[in-house]
Amino acid sequence: MAPTSYQICVLPGDGIGPEVIDCARQVLEALKDTEDGPGFQFDEHLVGADAFEASGEAITDAVIDECKAADAVLVGAMDVARLPANARQPLRTLRQSLEVGASIRPARTFAGVEARCDHIDTLVVREVTEGIYSGIEYAAGPDAACSVRLITRGASTRTAKIAFAEAQKRRRKVTAVHKLGALKLTDSLFLEACRDVGKDYPDVEFETRNIDACALEMVRHPEEFDVILATNTFGDILSDIAAGLACGLGLAPSGCVGERWAYFEPVHGTAPDIAGKGIANPLAAILSAALMVRHLGELKSADRIEQAVEAVLAAGAPRTGDLGGDAGSAEVRDAVLAELASS
Ligand code: ATP
Repeated sequence: MAPTSYQICVLPGDGIGPEVIDCARQVLEALKDTEDGPGFQFDEHLVGADAFEASGEAITDAVIDECKAADAVLVGAMDVARLPANARQPLRTLRQSLEVGASIRPARTFAGVEARCDHIDTLVVREVTEGIYSGIEYAAGPDAACSVRLITRGASTRTAKIAFAEAQKRRRKVTAVHKLGALKLTDSLFLEACRDVGKDYPDVEFETRNIDACALEMVRHPEEFDVILATNTFGDILSDIAAGLACGLGLAPSGCVGERWAYFEPVHGTAPDIAGKGIANPLAAILSAALMVRHLGELKSADRIEQAVEAVLAAGAPRTGDLGGDAGSAEVRDAVLAELASS
């Protein structure tokens, strides 16, 4: 059987984006030399503040069409602060055009890297278009203002489907987070949608927890959680708690996923203070590539990349400055490639 090949649209972005994304791309390329490893074809486009300065457009319709035609999109960081207010915001445009309604943020500990807990390995799946961040706000007189917490069955169902599908690729447990006592109508609807989706996944354990109890339990017993399914604001806060308990943002990958399209990016930004010096930590970008590979269904290859990263971190060196070492990005990338080659 011919090996699978995927078309990946690469948007390296600004600052350290191109440096770390190039490392991730080389790791993906190396998968074809592993047993049953897929091949990748890359199609790279300039998007972001550098693109705006070069051409007057931060992202074009042609690039969006390329993203839609690809199997997945890999994104570096975008320096949105350098864009004028009237410029098209690349990530917002991408989210809307690719109809990605859920963000996925894994958080985990790595042997050899200091963390706030002994063990955590969670994935927060968060709805990103509604909830209190729906943007529907109005003044209710001179001394009061309202924000509308919009919850729809459609968006809740879409997010729940992603959470259950991801749980099937992990430890098969979904925890849906709510505040039913206070938010009776909205969170009943959200939980009902989650339960309905769960009926199609009898092999996935489903539980519900109040947001406050969930936050407490995550800090006390983080090892109990696998996939956490949440509305916008609750998910926003819980994903940062999980990252804080794990090894911090420096090793944090993320994805934005919809029913047809998805893009993946490291959580960190453009880091202008270290851009161009070859010292950025490429591991969050490499782990974002692993998340993408897992999303594409190549579970063995995703495990391979993550195990290679684990081995490099457990060895203690090479490490970049943010993890207490003095190595450059290329040394860390090469160490991951060497682990991959011997796997
Ligand atoms: P942006 O405005 O694009 O978010 P920022 O510098 O405000 O950029 P980050 O890019 O997240 O925010 O960086 C915050 C700090 O973490 C900076 O000091 C940066 O150098 C450091 N940092 C971020 N990413 C990395 C990385 N991959 N490797 C090493 N240091 C990093």
